[in-house]
Order: sequence, then C-alpha cells, then structure tokens
Amino acid sequence: MARREIFPMTLADRPPASLRLSLDKPALVANWRALDKMSGSAQTGAAIKADAYGLGVEHVLPSLREAGCKHFFVAHWAEVPTVLEHVPAAMVSVLHGIANEADAAFARASGAIPVINSVKQASTWQQSGGGRCHLMVDTGINRLGISPDQAGAEVISGLEVDLLMSHLACADEDVPQNSQQLHAFCEVSEVIAHRQLSLANSAGIALGQDFAFDLTRPGLALYGGIPRPELEGIIRQVAYPEAAVLQIRELQPGDTVGYNARFTAEKPMRVATVSIGYADGFLRARGAACALQHEGHDLPVMGQVSMDMIVVDCSANANLKEGDFLSVLFDLPRESQRSGLSQYELLTTIGSRFEIRS
Ligand SMILES: *Cc1c(COP(=O)(O)O)cnc(C)c1O
Repeated sequence: MARREIFPMTLADRPPASLRLSLDKPALVANWRALDKMSGSAQTGAAIKADAYGLGVEHVLPSLREAGCKHFFVAHWAEVPTVLEHVPAAMVSVLHGIANEADAAFARASGAIPVINSVKQASTWQQSGGGRCHLMVDTGINRLGISPDQAGAEVISGLEVDLLMSHLACADEDVPQNSQQLHAFCEVSEVIAHRQLSLANSAGIALGQDFAFDLTRPGLALYGGIPRPELEGIIRQVAYPEAAVLQIRELQPGDTVGYNARFTAEKPMRVATVSIGYADGFLRARGAACALQHEGHDLPVMGQVSMDMIVVDCSANANLKEGDFLSVLFDLPRESQRSGLSQYELLTTIGSRFEIRS
C-alpha cells in the first residue's frame, strides 16, 4: 500500500501492523470452484456470516462474486450493510430470519431475503407485507426451522418461498442421520411450494450429489477447512497469519515466563516476545505444544498465552531480530487436531487486529 510522505498525518495513516494475515485469494476461488464442481448441476453459494468466518467480507466477497457466486448467507441483519457494499440485496439471505417487527422493517428496507424459521416468524413476515422469503425446515438438528408437521399450517402455505432449506447436523460424520435428514427433506419438499431446494453445507457437498439439490451453501471449506476426508487434496489453505517479534530477551536459569510463571528456564535461553495473543484468536488451547516458524526453524511457545503476546524460544535461531515476522501455523485440520478447537473456532476467533494482505 502506498504510504503518504507529507504531513500532517491523518489517523488513517496507521503505522504498519504487527499482525498480518495473508489471504491466498486464488486458493479461495479454487476452493469455491472445486465445491461448485462437486455440487454438480446445483448452484453454489457461500456462507459469509461472522465476517466471512473471520477473514473479512470486504476481502473475501469480491473474489467469490467474480468467480460467479450469486448467493451469500449471513446470520444477522447487522451483517447485511457491509455485504450490500459488494452485491445486490437480492443475493443476500439472512439465516436468523425475522424475530420481530424491527427485523421485518429492516428486511424490507434492505431488500435482503429472510430465512423464515418458525410459524411465528412466518406470521410476523406476512403481517409486515410478506413477499419473497426462504423457509428453513428442521429435519433433525433441532436448532431453527419449522418442523415437517407444521408444513401444512395456513401461514406457511401463504409464504412466497424461494429456497426451501434444511441443515445437516452430522454431515462431517458417517452416520444414519444424514440419509434420514435427506429423506425427511425430500418428503417435506413435496408438501411446501418452493422455487429451489438447498440442504448441503461444506461437508454435505462431500456426501455426494444426492445432497446438492438446487443450491449448496459451503462456508468452512471455502476458507480452507476440511470437514471430511473426501475434501483432502482438493481444498487449499487460504489464511496465513504472521506476527512480529516485539522484543528479544535473554533468560537465566530459574527465570520464569508469563502469567502464573508456568515456564521456568533451566539453562540460559534466547526468547522472543511475539505480537499475538488470545485476543487475536491464538487461544490458550493453542499454546501448548505449539511452535511458530521462522526460516524453517520451529520456535516453541513457552508458558501461558497472554491477551496480546506470547513468548517463544528462539535459541534455535540466532539470526532472529526484533521486527521479524513469524509464521503462525494455520493448517486448519492439523491445528484443530492439536488444540482441540474446531476448525470453525480457529477461523472465527481470528479477531480484528490483523492487517489483511492479499
Ligand atoms: C453456517 C451455515 C452453513 C455453512 O456451513 P459450513 O459447515 O461452514 O460449510 C450453511 N448453512 C447454514 C444454515 C449455516 O448456518
């Protein structure tokens, strides 16, 4: 980015960040295309809720739109305005639907499409004037959605349903519930008038084309997550975090590191304090047995993760200096396995202090 040389500076002229997130946009687009191909004749949308799973709607959405994606899913109405900077409202669906009149008014003003999730939501939407909407049917996840036996309710038959949707609870596992939900969805689709059908998330796409219907809704796999083995070797890593060294310090035997003095040096050590902490998604669960990387060296994390910092052992790398950037491993399946955090949690906790580069 060009930096202005003249004074006075404005507050927009921020100094370079000590946290960077490199986004591999070609990998993002390749992931969407691969999922689109696996979706067969179905169209492929994109879940971009939670600021595109932490990666930033403004960075992710234009690439997906250019690739040909026409259906974008968020959870909250508050997420809509940012999305509308990039695509027309008719391409945007709001998964939480219409909780009250204020939501209905906002839906009308914005033009984004609500996903109706209950008979009550259907009434609120109809009372506010009705019109195009989507309808979620619960086929077994028991979260949001009308139950199949409410399909015949008068207010439901009065809806102008574009997408009839359901959501898989266990698509990342091989369990009978997947085919049970598929079956229940097919049955209800015969009772409720609709334009199109949509069932599969990322893992659902990997279950095969029986699950694809007219539109698939991947999120996780777009961003490099691999929920099922079928996607290994197909889905590429998208996000590469890096954090700067703030200070290099020398420890003497007996010195301890960090909150609660959880690490004690047994020998003289060279350590680096690094600008990433749990506020940046580097949760304490990731600290144990984790290493950052620099020029091929592993730099193990020492002691507890703080809010804004960690300390790493850089004895192995005498060249490391203050200001150098260290790579934070972010192969999602591997880091999930190592930390016990889900791939979704690793992405969505990323935080807002990274300078996103692409
Ligand atoms: C989040 C979400 C998706 C995307 O799921 P992934 O597992 O991230 O692919 C699709 N549909 C609904 C209803 C969702 O809530």
